[in-house]
Amino acid sequence: LSYDCVVIGAGLAGMTAAVRLASGGSRCAVVASGMGALYLGGAAIDVLGYAPHLVENPASELPDFCAKHPEHPYARTSIADVSHSLDWLKSQTGDGWIGTLDTNMLLPTGVGAAKPSALVPKSMAAGDLRTAHRIVLVGISCLKDFYPRLAAGNLETRSGIETRTIEVDVRPSRDAEISSLRYARALDDPEFRKQLMAALEGKVESDEAVGFPAVLGLRDARTVWLELQDALGAPVFEIPTLPPSIPGIRLFAQLKNALRTSGGRLILNATVVGAEASGSQVRTVLTESSGRGTALATQSVVLATGGVGSGGIAMDSRWRLSEPALGLPVAGGETIREERFKPDYFADHPIATAGIDTDEHLRPIDSHGTVIYENVFVAGGSLAGARPWHEKSGNGISLATGWSAAQRIMERAGEWN
Ligand SMILES: Cc1cc2nc3c(=O)[nH]c(=O)nc-3n(C[C@H](O)[C@H](O)[C@H](O)COP(=O)(O)OP(=O)(O)OC[C@H]3O[C@@H](n4cnc5c(N)ncnc54)[C@H](O)[C@@H]3O)c2cc1C
Repeated sequence: LSYDCVVIGAGLAGMTAAVRLASGGSRCAVVASGMGALYLGGAAIDVLGYAPHLVENPASELPDFCAKHPEHPYARTSIADVSHSLDWLKSQTGDGWIGTLDTNMLLPTGVGAAKPSALVPKSMAAGDLRTAHRIVLVGISCLKDFYPRLAAGNLETRSGIETRTIEVDVRPSRDAEISSLRYARALDDPEFRKQLMAALEGKVESDEAVGFPAVLGLRDARTVWLELQDALGAPVFEIPTLPPSIPGIRLFAQLKNALRTSGGRLILNATVVGAEASGSQVRTVLTESSGRGTALATQSVVLATGGVGSGGIAMDSRWRLSEPALGLPVAGGETIREERFKPDYFADHPIATAGIDTDEHLRPIDSHGTVIYENVFVAGGSLAGARPWHEKSGNGISLATGWSAAQRIMERAGEWN
């Protein structure tokens, strides 16, 4: 088994790099032990929400932000590349996403907070709190992953926007509780959609934007969203629910289809347990699946295994950090043992910024700044230097660095033969 590139990890960073490489003609395989955070998170691309003040225009704030944080992943990509990566994602989703690097929308979360996002599915955009006047949130009584009254109360208190709720009892089966995934699948059926629309007839007032939990279809989401807007005569928007994330699952499906259409391969349930190198180049990636080992020969590697939550960075019982796939050194974990507990849940913690340090081309470096492998590029949550939860930058970093890793590999095509 021989590839031009092996991408380790099937989150947003890995899938972005892989789709770009495969559609550029590379023989590319994605190897992943499981699904990435797209299955959990809201899928919106938050590039830079706080710095630490609320950021309205990421494009104008990023130069100063990168100058103040030279260790940050955005300082390893150009701002033009961050912008290209957003355009690229828009092109992958047909006409389905909206946004630019010049503006952050302010979108309601499932608990009614306002989250700054640069690029979002169009089905979320009408919830932009900068422009919404009055909001009605639709609760679905059997749906266990969304709490409209909690969200409405917080939205009104924090954003000052008049918000009310409607509750409907339209269910695809007699079960007392239905998951987001099941409801989204049910709404792909036009007959079931008609039941939901009938239950809402006459309940929406003029000037209201109508917020639904993000379950408006799985395969045919655009049709579901457009039909609901038509039927209600009002702008309709989706709000992320508790995991699993239907918008994230939709995006993963689009990227997976794009990968396969371009001839790329997706190998799931396979864990990378090591690599063989010749000099400063990784030549073979070693995987394990159901106790069976496989060696994948490759010209280049993208390491996109995520952070601590995804197993990309591991921690042992002595609070020592390691990178299990390629055995790269982890930077920034030196003080974790001393600083392990903080009184405030969201306090700055060294675990947030710990990760793989790279040169300006996203290649891993050691503590002296020497490149460890010339043909390995690191992307996404594995990178050192970011505080994604504080900055609201998680998916933005993954998209931009996944895009840039592919770019660097394409620029060097042929160098590693
Ligand atoms: C609940 C939740 C909500 C979020 N909401 C938002 C949001 O609204 N906006 C935003 O911008 N960000 C959000 N984020 C953060 C964002 O999702 C992540 O920062 C980003 O998706 C990370 O992407 P990634 O591709 O780097 O890694 P991940 O998505 O974590 O993917 C890592 C991949 O690597 C694989 N892997 C790990 N180790 C190995 C190995 N040894 N061998 C093979 N495969 C391996 C994993 O199985 C997985 O496929 C959220 C995250 C979570 C968890």
